[in-house]
Amino acid sequence: MKRSLFLQLFLIFYVVLFVALSIITASFIYSRQRMENEAAELEMLERARALAATSQDYYAARMTLGAYQTVLEHAVDEKTAIWIVNPFGIVLQVSGLQEGEELLTQQQLVASLENLLKGQELRTADMAMQSGARVRNYVVAVPVAAEGGNSFAGAVFIYRRMANISLDMLGVYEMLMALIVFALAGIPLFFMTRSVTKPLKEMALASGEYAAGHFEKRIHENRISEIDTLGQSLNKMAEDLAGLEQMRMGFVANVSHELRSPMTSMQGYVQGILDGTIPPQDHQRYLKVVFDETRRLTRLVNDLLDLSKIESGNMPIRKTRFDVCELMRRVLIKYEGRIDEKSLEVEVLFHPEQCLVYADMDRIEQVVSNLVDNAIKFVPQRGQLGLYLNQGSDFAYITVSDNGIGISKEDLPYIFDRFYKADKAHTSGKGTGLGLAIASKIMQCHGQELTCTSKQGEGTSFRFCLDLYRGQDAAQAPERP
Ligand code: ATP
Ligand code: MG
Repeated sequence: MKRSLFLQLFLIFYVVLFVALSIITASFIYSRQRMENEAAELEMLERARALAATSQDYYAARMTLGAYQTVLEHAVDEKTAIWIVNPFGIVLQVSGLQEGEELLTQQQLVASLENLLKGQELRTADMAMQSGARVRNYVVAVPVAAEGGNSFAGAVFIYRRMANISLDMLGVYEMLMALIVFALAGIPLFFMTRSVTKPLKEMALASGEYAAGHFEKRIHENRISEIDTLGQSLNKMAEDLAGLEQMRMGFVANVSHELRSPMTSMQGYVQGILDGTIPPQDHQRYLKVVFDETRRLTRLVNDLLDLSKIESGNMPIRKTRFDVCELMRRVLIKYEGRIDEKSLEVEVLFHPEQCLVYADMDRIEQVVSNLVDNAIKFVPQRGQLGLYLNQGSDFAYITVSDNGIGISKEDLPYIFDRFYKADKAHTSGKGTGLGLAIASKIMQCHGQELTCTSKQGEGTSFRFCLDLYRGQDAAQAPERP
């Protein structure tokens, strides 16, 4: 079963808080107990010293036995036991402890007596198990000085059982405080957890909307930087998707538009022929128009297929070795008819006359053909068309230029976009605006760039370069005719 992030985080925070509180409380109890024990030990020492002085009084007969015993009895409580030991190890014991508790043995007393009789005080503490619980035993011993001399008349031992450090030390007040802190901590924890889970919920909701094709929703800024980064990425994605969606819709609109005009005209002419509106002697002429339109449609569909292949990365680039000068001459011959029609002046300057490059020949022919086609389309009668080649140390530089209508500064950045036609009126019915998009994509596939410089009214030139043939893949690169 899936648990909500909120619950999970909330529980984790609470557990962490519980552990932290427990550690703090434990260390608090520990240090308090240590201080108490230390104070108790000092107090025992003081008591032993006082008893030692009383014992001295008693030995010196300044005190009756009865009075002495009263003092001793008053000095014990339920946690302590007292021994008054004479120099021979003979003991007088007074104890407030219960019967059967394990106290100091005679041997232990006698063993410590030796040092005590030299005037040294004694302090020991040890842990012992007593009826299943750990207890801490403290023993202090103080020598009893003999009357008027340097010798000692015995010693006073005080034994005390102290509680070991445990949770029992925690008073009701502390318990209550801990509970209140624990409960109150829930409030900030709740808001903290919500500050993490709320934006995530918002993002999940937005993603759902994006998936459904609505890209308007944006994620709000967040103070937590990681969450904010995620939110910004989602916003960026939504923007990109919206842009893409717009482009897709524009593309469909463009394609439909390009398809509709030839279809309508063909339909009109064929209908005219069929219903006799167009007289038989004109049939030939109109069928030629229909034929041209079908060719245009075929070209459009082929161009679209090419574009989609290149964009999806499915257009294979088959590089071979070939003479690019030869290719350009071939393209010129292909367009000879249209060049003659417009009586264009053609300048061809190749340095050198033959230049072997390594590229996909068919695709490069497509590029050059489109550039020459455009130049012819956009130059006036008797205009100029130039084809140039310069060979550098690594590349062949190819330029196709004309002195036609040129391209305005505003249009220049867009001419490589799909369906972009700068001078719509001038080229209407002539092209679809896909040629340069395809050409620039082909150059990208070659790792090169197709660039354009143009001035409105003066002319245009397109430039690109190709790798010179340097024996790349010599075995698989036969020269193509
Ligand atoms: P297609 O090549 O698909 O038949 P097209 O020639 O109109 O159509 P592109 O080759 O992509 O499309 O060119 C895009 C636009 O760039 C042209 O419509 C034209 O406005 C402008 N253009 C391209 N080459 C020239 C040029 N040599 N002189 C002036 N404008 C040009
Ligand atoms: Mg073109």
